[in-house]
Amino acid sequence: MQKIRIGYGYDVHRLAEGLPLWLGGVSVPSDRGCVAHSDGDVLIHAVCDALLGALALGDIGTHFPDTDPRYAGIDSKLLLAECVGLIEKQGYRVGNVDCMLCLERPKIKPFVPAMQQTLAEILKVAPGDVSVKATTKEGLGFIGSGEGVDATAAVLLFSGDTDI
Ligand code: MG
Repeated sequence: MQKIRIGYGYDVHRLAEGLPLWLGGVSVPSDRGCVAHSDGDVLIHAVCDALLGALALGDIGTHFPDTDPRYAGIDSKLLLAECVGLIEKQGYRVGNVDCMLCLERPKIKPFVPAMQQTLAEILKVAPGDVSVKATTKEGLGFIGSGEGVDATAAVLLFSGDTDI
């Protein structure tokens, strides 16, 4: 019998001036980027945690510790591809992903199609199976002040090769 699993992921990063801003596998022009051991792609990190969480495989910190020099500055797309490999090893594939980015600036909308395309290729789904939404915090808190960015993601996984 085909099984379905749901997963949820969350990540947050501090922003600092002069760093590149990677979101959803796409380089977004900005005067600020994420402070991180990896490339700091907060959106991909949330998706990784959702994939791992769906199968109770731990979290991104367990699989890719920020104390490990192998992951210094790493392209988070590689981490996501590894997570996809882990769920495939368990006999699952991605159904769809719904993500939410929360940051004050820049505006994300123009970059959403590229993010969907990039994530869909790694997740082995159609771009229409990847939703990327964005909002601000209306100036409130650490996100509103531009100090940080966070992201959440929900995924659905299917076992086997056939659709329900
Ligand atoms: Mg992270």
